[in-house]
Amino acid sequence: MSGEKRLLEALLATTRLIAANHPLQEVVHRLADELNGLLNADRCSVLILDEEDHQLAFHDSSALSQWERENIRFRMGEGVAGWVAQHREPVLIPDVSVDPRFKKHDGQIRNMVSMICVPLEMHRRLIGVLTLTTAKAEHVFTQEEMELVVLIAAHISLALESHRLYELSVLDGLTNIYNRRYLDQRLSQELADSIRHEKPLTVALLDLDNFKKLNDGYGHQAGDQVLCELTGLLSQELRQHDVLARYGGEEFALILAGTSGPDGLHLGERLRALVESRDFFYKNQKLPVTISLGLATFPENGQDKMTLLRAADKALYRAKESGRNRVEASKE
Ligand code: GH3
Ligand code: MG
Ligand code: MG
Repeated sequence: MSGEKRLLEALLATTRLIAANHPLQEVVHRLADELNGLLNADRCSVLILDEEDHQLAFHDSSALSQWERENIRFRMGEGVAGWVAQHREPVLIPDVSVDPRFKKHDGQIRNMVSMICVPLEMHRRLIGVLTLTTAKAEHVFTQEEMELVVLIAAHISLALESHRLYELSVLDGLTNIYNRRYLDQRLSQELADSIRHEKPLTVALLDLDNFKKLNDGYGHQAGDQVLCELTGLLSQELRQHDVLARYGGEEFALILAGTSGPDGLHLGERLRALVESRDFFYKNQKLPVTISLGLATFPENGQDKMTLLRAADKALYRAKESGRNRVEASKE
């Protein structure tokens, strides 16, 4: 196949992958596979810049061993990846064993001969680097191949950036769970699905008890820490397809698609008991943390989003009225 045709096909494949809005891991894996195949490389991997410690770490990649994923990191300027990140320039290395920039990590067993490493950037912000390596002595990458990698890297950057922006738009900044905007959209979708398939759906509103007192007594930071720990705890306890979102300050919402009223009550009670039994600490002080929940179920308590949320809120109010640290189901 001519070089030009090969390039066009590769670009088309990457554009399709990104546009199809697959999960990011999958997009990156498949782009890496595509590049590997095209250039007959030994492996292709993406390293992402960690904005906190300014180090490059491997994006979860199927082509890597667990050891490599967990142990190899490059600081700015360190190794070929660090050099590329610092200089923001692509490099083509015919033989890594004679390149002074190359850094072999202790414990790394993989053989490498030739390498292409290019920066991943968006709006002049460095996202990470993309590397391709060969293990065969007779296979040295060409300049033309490097240019192809640069082009595809631009697409990978776009995929990574659009994923980052999407996450920013749907996640809550403090707790990293979904925000209210996402919850509203998702609840509409799930409800439509439940109506179509005649499945039940339960919505739970969950509110921390006497949280104002906790903030007043231990400080706002202690309160923030509780919000983060609580969402971590709840997320672990929920099933994959349950949706937990921050609904307001210290109020959360749960979408339990396919869950009936009695099953929802059972889960709500389990969550309430879990929080009650968990010890929360702030600077060695044990904090009093409990939650109350109000539940409403489609179809019996409401047929649309607003009615269900209102019914769940009324049930939550009853849980508070009757002493807090309680779960109440809607009687609407
Ligand atoms: P109740 O048991 O009736 O829910 O009492 P409460 O004190 O929890 O309820 P109220 O709605 O009166 O107060 C909620 C408090 O939650 C007010 C606010 O200080 C606190 N809060 C809301 N958002 C945040 C947050 O992001 N961080 C912290 N630390 N506190 C928050
Ligand atoms: Mg509260
Ligand atoms: Mg509240």
